[in-house]
Amino acid sequence: TRQIKEFDKSVNSVCPFCGVGCQTTINVKDNKIVQVDGRDGPANENRLCVKGRFGYDYAMSNERLTKPLIRRDDAPKRGDIDMRFMKIEDVFREATWEEAMAKSAEGLMAIEKEYGGDALSGFGSAKGSNEEAYLFQKLVRQGFGTNNVDHCTRLCHASSVAALLEGVGSGAVSAPFTDAMVSDCVIIIGARPATNHPVAATYFKQAAKKGTKIVVMDPRQQDMMKFAEHALQFKPGTDVAMLNALLHVIVDEELYDEQYIQANVTGFAALKEKVKDFAPEDMAEVCGIPAETLREVARLYATSERSIIFWGMGISQHTHGTDNSRCLIAMALITGQIGREGTGLHPLRGQNNVQGASDAGLIPMFLPDYRSVENADIRSQFENVWGATIDPKRGLTVVEIMDAIHEDKIHGMYIMGENPAMSDPDQLHARAALAKLKHLVVQDIFLTETAWHADVVLPASVHSEKLGTFTNTNRQIQIGRPALDPPGEARQDLDIIIDLANRMGLGWTYDGVSDVYNEMMLVMPSLSNIPWSRLIKEDAVTYPAKSENEPGSAVIFEDGFPTADGSGKLVPADLRAPDEVPDEEFPMVLTTGRLLEHWHTGAMTRRSDVLDHIEPEGIAAMNPYEIARQGLVVGEMVSVETRRGAISAVLRADREVADGMIFIPFCFNESPANVLTNPQLDPFGKIPEFKFCAAKIGRYEEV
Ligand code: SF4
Repeated sequence: TRQIKEFDKSVNSVCPFCGVGCQTTINVKDNKIVQVDGRDGPANENRLCVKGRFGYDYAMSNERLTKPLIRRDDAPKRGDIDMRFMKIEDVFREATWEEAMAKSAEGLMAIEKEYGGDALSGFGSAKGSNEEAYLFQKLVRQGFGTNNVDHCTRLCHASSVAALLEGVGSGAVSAPFTDAMVSDCVIIIGARPATNHPVAATYFKQAAKKGTKIVVMDPRQQDMMKFAEHALQFKPGTDVAMLNALLHVIVDEELYDEQYIQANVTGFAALKEKVKDFAPEDMAEVCGIPAETLREVARLYATSERSIIFWGMGISQHTHGTDNSRCLIAMALITGQIGREGTGLHPLRGQNNVQGASDAGLIPMFLPDYRSVENADIRSQFENVWGATIDPKRGLTVVEIMDAIHEDKIHGMYIMGENPAMSDPDQLHARAALAKLKHLVVQDIFLTETAWHADVVLPASVHSEKLGTFTNTNRQIQIGRPALDPPGEARQDLDIIIDLANRMGLGWTYDGVSDVYNEMMLVMPSLSNIPWSRLIKEDAVTYPAKSENEPGSAVIFEDGFPTADGSGKLVPADLRAPDEVPDEEFPMVLTTGRLLEHWHTGAMTRRSDVLDHIEPEGIAAMNPYEIARQGLVVGEMVSVETRRGAISAVLRADREVADGMIFIPFCFNESPANVLTNPQLDPFGKIPEFKFCAAKIGRYEEV
């Protein structure tokens, strides 16, 4: 048995990593986590993956920030710092909370006074709680006087949300991933659940064993393909060609649901016209999938009793990411594969609370519950509750904010629990922007790559030290409970936000987390019938909930869509090439992503012993044939270069990577993949094209 220690306490909480939202029990001895177990939650039924089970010791790392830090007057210039080779004390000095908070607020207010609120911006966090996200966006809107507030959803599913809001009137999933168990056909496209949503993957595998037909579409091979009826390793960047070919077959062979379309869908004539030009026989060469396979997959999806589509960042992180999602939405709408158990559309959300942070308004164009900041009636509803005036124009997104700093339009930032110095595309450009700020306040648990650029660093709390709600990919709102005391003088994130707001004169008087949640209920109809007391009692409640006594609605869109006319809207997509295609100078395709053991920019998992021992160094992966063709040697140090910069990494052979492709995970700061990535944005979702750019690779000395 694993239980070899006596615990001081065992606390029920949720996993801090991915959007699956596994429920956990955190076992504590001497204010240290010694074991994490899975609980019988709605999304995990006692299961945990390697991250949830073993990735807990970052919370006790001796690198935790325990005192506020203020940048020294004689610190080296921010742009000149390579933080890996600096001593903290050469850049920062310790400060009292009083001094650090006063400096934080005064710096932000001075910029607001001199340049106006739009010269400020804030990045909140999808790892924080719903209550933190809500107060963070409120502080930026009420205190800074701008809508320049965003978070990492911009880098993962912004294009999916844009397409879903346009097509079906809601950015959330229509059915939980556990519905795969009752589906007849499951399409998984641009997602690698065995790596990135491992517990969800166990449900997909179980479904396959029960007889559900699985279709996996991915330019890289992957574990789930072993369980698939059809595995389509299509050419990278040709998603629209492949998906429009499927739509062509559904239309051409009249596999659509005429009755459902007439009752619930608009735009079918225009879609029909568009997909005429995408016959599988013409698209086979473009996307690399035989025409007959495309026809079989289209027939399987359309004619199964219950079909459901799951997708990930392979779909969303493109300059045509919104178009990719539009095609998936069209497939579901014209076949009526939505609004019933076992059917629907499910973008697998990445971070543990990216769904909740987006719902809570941590985005520049929407107030909480995706209500437009440009609508005067909506603004006045919030203004009445907040007692504040809200800027009527939408704010800037993550990458736009970095550009605005370079253009001298933004001078001050407040960043909580985000690491844009690692996560943003064209990282050297992003770091130069952070270095250019007149005032940067960073609130975090470690001195991250971003925090090294700060004027003030505020030591915050980890997930296992705080109380709050977190919303997983299934729309299940769950309670996270504190198991540890924060180290040293580190404080609760919520308290820091409130302190900063009050130093900026906002006069907030919240009495704890539940008080913040109660205010959220006043302005967020999605939380109706889910009071704090219910969450404490039930631990997880799905929104929307029709009454306090019934479970929330796992499946939505049963009776139409929350759009202006109640119909789902079809938006045909054109085939567009990725922004930067390989050429003679940069002949390879670079794609980036995650590893099973490491989470996003690695701030947490690289400080978790078990996980970092399994994956300890930055790698670039190519398939063995490509390695041999290029005369390289597995295990040697290589240099990968794009038009934005070059990095070095250890070369790994990986048969899953396609010919002509390089895969680099973005979690290693010694091999920072985002130095290489293309910041070009999807025009609708404003998401950068992380999944495709032109690159070259060579021996470390040669490039
Ligand atoms: Fe945590 Fe996701 Fe793993 Fe579950 S699947 S244990 S939520 S990382």
